[in-house]
Amino acid sequence: ILGSIATPRKGGIVVDLRRLNRVLEVNEDDMYAVIEGGTTWADLKGYLDKHHPDFRAGITWSPPGTGVVPSCLAYGMFDLGMLGGTGAEFINGIEAVLGTGDLVRIGSCSLSKYWYGRQPLPDLAGLFIGWEGTTGIVTKAAIKLWPKLPYRTDFLPLANKIEDGVPMMLKLSKAGLGIVDLCILNMGWCNSLQGFKETSVALDPIELNLPDFIGLITTEAFTEKQHEAQCEAIIDICKEFGIDPYPA
Ligand SMILES: Cc1cc2nc3c(=O)[nH]c(=O)nc-3n(C[C@H](O)[C@H](O)[C@H](O)COP(=O)(O)OP(=O)(O)OC[C@H]3O[C@@H](n4cnc5c(N)ncnc54)[C@H](O)[C@@H]3O)c2cc1C
Repeated sequence: ILGSIATPRKGGIVVDLRRLNRVLEVNEDDMYAVIEGGTTWADLKGYLDKHHPDFRAGITWSPPGTGVVPSCLAYGMFDLGMLGGTGAEFINGIEAVLGTGDLVRIGSCSLSKYWYGRQPLPDLAGLFIGWEGTTGIVTKAAIKLWPKLPYRTDFLPLANKIEDGVPMMLKLSKAGLGIVDLCILNMGWCNSLQGFKETSVALDPIELNLPDFIGLITTEAFTEKQHEAQCEAIIDICKEFGIDPYPA
């Protein structure tokens, strides 16, 4: 969404949050982590893998050194999107410093020591979500976690045109089937993500007979039997649209 493009022009302020990089708390029962405002995706994943290996946060396509809090504040896109929506919906609570120097808290953390959610008070998180830091600096945030389920398959269906793949993805989006992530990519986007030179990106993939629809379907399950049934149903839906769902 952003990609470290927040370069202040004349009159802007740069605040280096790199030392605000600690994971302060993980609550496994309520499934959230309280992190500081400069925590990167690498910091969070590294901490969880080491201390709470049964849990994970969402994963984005952004580099590991980018921030978790800015990503959530900017409606980031994770591989858990089908469970909760954008990164903004994964925020349980916020602590922020305002321009006046006041420290404010939003969500259950303003009433108790638990950061379980933004209820039951009026939800003021919107004063910080989508504002690019202009209304205050978030010093702490609680981010929802998800259990690492033992069974997972990623499918990579390919089709000639975006229009060929979208109806299939829409049907999958309403099918349940343990799907935690559905992502639609085109060839140009994939080329740029792979670091292709500008001159090597396929401008008209269809003319070159390359697939311009690249899907990503991630399904997770608690038991093997459940996983097999989910995968079988996903494959059937893809075939119904004449698309081969290559398991990754
Ligand atoms: C190759 C690539 C792939 C990407 N893929 C994805 C993807 O799949 N999904 C996705 O969602 N995003 C993606 N991104 C964008 C990525 O999520 C953002 O770059 C990242 O999350 C923001 O972190 P940053 O360190 O770049 O933020 P910065 O550039 O430091 O900040 C972004 C904005 O947030 C504000 N901000 C930063 N910290 C705070 C804070 N603590 N409190 C208040 N405001 C703050 C800043 O003022 C700025 O306006 C991608 C980026 C790249 C480069």
